[in-house]
Amino acid sequence: MPVPGELVFEAPKRGKPPVHALDLTREERRSVVEAAGLPGFRADQVSRHWLGRLSDDPSEWTDIPADIRPALSQLLLPPLLTQASRLDCDNGTTVKTAWRLHDSAVVESVLMRYPDRVTMCISSQAGCGMNCPFCATGQAGLTRNLSTAEIVEQVLAGARSLARGEVAGGPGRVSNVVFMGMGEPLANYAATVAAVRRLTSAPPEGLGISARGITVSTVGLVPRILDLAQEGLPVTLAVSLHAPDDELRDTLVPINTRYKVADVLSAAWRYGNITHRRVSIEYALIRDINDQRWRGELLGDLLAGHLVHVNLIPLNPTPGSKWTASRPQDERAFVKALEERGVAVTVRDTRGREIDGACGQLAAVTTQGLADSSA
Ligand code: SAH
Repeated sequence: MPVPGELVFEAPKRGKPPVHALDLTREERRSVVEAAGLPGFRADQVSRHWLGRLSDDPSEWTDIPADIRPALSQLLLPPLLTQASRLDCDNGTTVKTAWRLHDSAVVESVLMRYPDRVTMCISSQAGCGMNCPFCATGQAGLTRNLSTAEIVEQVLAGARSLARGEVAGGPGRVSNVVFMGMGEPLANYAATVAAVRRLTSAPPEGLGISARGITVSTVGLVPRILDLAQEGLPVTLAVSLHAPDDELRDTLVPINTRYKVADVLSAAWRYGNITHRRVSIEYALIRDINDQRWRGELLGDLLAGHLVHVNLIPLNPTPGSKWTASRPQDERAFVKALEERGVAVTVRDTRGREIDGACGQLAAVTTQGLADSSA
């Protein structure tokens, strides 16, 4: 019940995107539809079309009277993302899309098709406040948090495009979602967790993607990692470590001055124990900065014996940075140091580099160059 004096219909705050069905639970969608004088079950019907059949065309919603489709659509599905550009590479199996949001902020998402899966890399914030010096997104700072629906709609846009056969390789489905685009997902905690719930619930509530296919990547916001462990969502946690020692990590991941390597790792192990999920450690190999053999050995010693997997990412170039990827022999020695300690390790492929769509390259310089080069 509304408290007297409380605003029931709050005016949208400046900068806030319009409320969308994907911001709401199934029950909340019903209430919104009923408040507009329409039968509540229409919310489920719309959700089934939007999320189950991936139809964004009201003329296909034939179980709903044509005269109320526009009202339902306006109420539940205000447009949130406008495509600003689309670039592809790897013979059309990697697609980077830049999206303009209602307030002109721009975010990017990347679809990567592999023989056995399709992964969507999505943004959780416009920009990022974490300021890691090797990452392009951090350089312009944080514009704002994305809403739950703005996060999920990136996946839906990819899912629709795949279903329609617009991505090389024929019609397909999104099997994996990684929160590794722009932003720090755990700094936009509530929207990120709600987005994971929408992604994983079955239609009409959500998209029905398996939680095991979802990875949330963080710089290591310790209290939020511990919160996430309690959400009952078996998503994979990826921790962007990049250095095994505080002295170097303080410079590569500045939030390390608040949450030290030991604290981040102990939160990660807690996460693994509670969720029974193997934790991923992300480590961008930067030539002569963090790729010394002794650092590989130290990293191996810290991780040995835990349920963990290391993803080594050859540094992707970013504008204005003099840093570059490690020499092949240094990369091999680093891998060996980990393997010798029994730590599972893979070197990530660098999909999307040519279109600045690889890790750390998403910067949405879209307003000028990219917007004109829509493929
Ligand atoms: N803020 C979150 C998620 C976004 S970044 C996080 O930091 O985890 C996704 C991954 O790409 C992170 O591991 C990040 O450290 C890494 N990354 C950033 N810039 C990179 C670059 N230039 N080359 C390779 N990886 C990079």
